[in-house]
Amino acid sequence: MLLTPRSGARRVRAALLTSAVSVCLIAAGVPSPAVPLGVGDRLFPHLGNPGYDVRSYDLAFTYSGTNSEPLTAVTTIDARTTAPLERVNLDFAHGTVRSVEVNGAPAEFTSAGEDLVLTPRARLREGGPLRITVRHTSDPMYADGKEGGWVRTADGLAMANQADAAHLVFPCNDHPSDKALFTIRVTAPRGHTAVAGGLPTGVRRTPRATTWTYRTAHPMATELTQVSIGRSTVLRRKGPHGLPVRDVIPAKDRGTLGPWLRKTPAQIRWMEGKVGAYPFETYGLLIADARTGFELETQTLSLFERELFTRSEYPKWYVESIMVHELAHQWFGNSVSPRTWSDLWLSEGHATWYEALYAQEKAGRSLQTRMKAAYGSSDRWRAAGGPPAEPKAPGPGQKTSIFRPVVYDGSALFLYALRQEIGSPAFDRLERSWVSVHRDGVAGTDDFQDLASRVAGRDLSGFFHAWLYGEKTPPMPGHPDWTSEPARK
Ligand SMILES: [Zn+2]
Repeated sequence: MLLTPRSGARRVRAALLTSAVSVCLIAAGVPSPAVPLGVGDRLFPHLGNPGYDVRSYDLAFTYSGTNSEPLTAVTTIDARTTAPLERVNLDFAHGTVRSVEVNGAPAEFTSAGEDLVLTPRARLREGGPLRITVRHTSDPMYADGKEGGWVRTADGLAMANQADAAHLVFPCNDHPSDKALFTIRVTAPRGHTAVAGGLPTGVRRTPRATTWTYRTAHPMATELTQVSIGRSTVLRRKGPHGLPVRDVIPAKDRGTLGPWLRKTPAQIRWMEGKVGAYPFETYGLLIADARTGFELETQTLSLFERELFTRSEYPKWYVESIMVHELAHQWFGNSVSPRTWSDLWLSEGHATWYEALYAQEKAGRSLQTRMKAAYGSSDRWRAAGGPPAEPKAPGPGQKTSIFRPVVYDGSALFLYALRQEIGSPAFDRLERSWVSVHRDGVAGTDDFQDLASRVAGRDLSGFFHAWLYGEKTPPMPGHPDWTSEPARK
């Protein structure tokens, strides 16, 4: 994610949306109270759920043509249990649940916190198959101006689930440590076009509506799901090695947005030159006519605010570097997902690094000047947001407040320090190995430290600890004269 500077983090979200959940207990006699569970994420204790591993999601949405009406939806989850389970917790906190089946039989369900808690007829054994089907609504309307999940655009809907809003859209195990394959089906009335992450596998047309089906070829975190419904045009072009590139834009904007979109294949080639092959089956931009205040790296189809390309005050180099930021996330953050939300710096630090490197190589914007400025602010950023790998918890009702300067330029600054410390050849090898060793996987700060130490041929744990967990910014290798302004007390 990258917040657009003019608007800042103006997106707010409810700390708890339990009041918006409407579920009913279909049978009495539940032995003990259902409680919300989590996978122990330091920043989001109730995200994710223990006891199972999701292999695939099948999401089916039916859109009425009106943004103010809930979509009807069927979510099917194929998982395997990793422990014996009397109950199965899913994350789901916005919408009405009509029915639930577990392994083909109706199951009881209730809500607890932001969880939907299922009680199957019989206890599930460890290591067995688990198929859950939930019939529910998916509601793009949020009370009190709260946002998250569906984004209402001028001509339809898009999705922005980072960090913790996928479970406002569909029931899931809403943590990036449980990646899965996705099949997404969208039915929309005539005149609309639906596009989702992955490649299309079929279109079925009836006189009044069309159903599009998309499937991902690689596992994906729930936070990176994208579904676009709108009066859209899909522009297709070829990327490197025949990679299918498709952009989804408001049909009326084809003339103005086309020149920007033609830059994507060369940007992919540039990234491949830095870190190796593009990790997915397709790429492209979804340009939404909505004021989101951010861009978002949804997997294979990054979400951009239309205004980024239409407002005259943004210099050309800046817009292109933001395009590269979201593209770089396809390697850093998407193909290699953070193990916990405290590892967010690995995603944002790298995306910012390639954004800045691109601006230097293509537009002469000095990386060293930018890093020296970041160094000057670094102590203040650490005081405000915590050190890069131990960020402060989000404030109540401000979950996107984890997207602070310390995880952007404050963490690109660490990568600059690391390159200064181990030298460019070792740093380049580290970057290439990172995205190849952990491709389609989940990895955290310790994994990056171990790989860096191996590539550099020496133990870097002291260096990593000082830079990633320290209250103060350590001296910059090679620039002993750089200073950081003290934090205001
Ligand atoms: Zn980002």
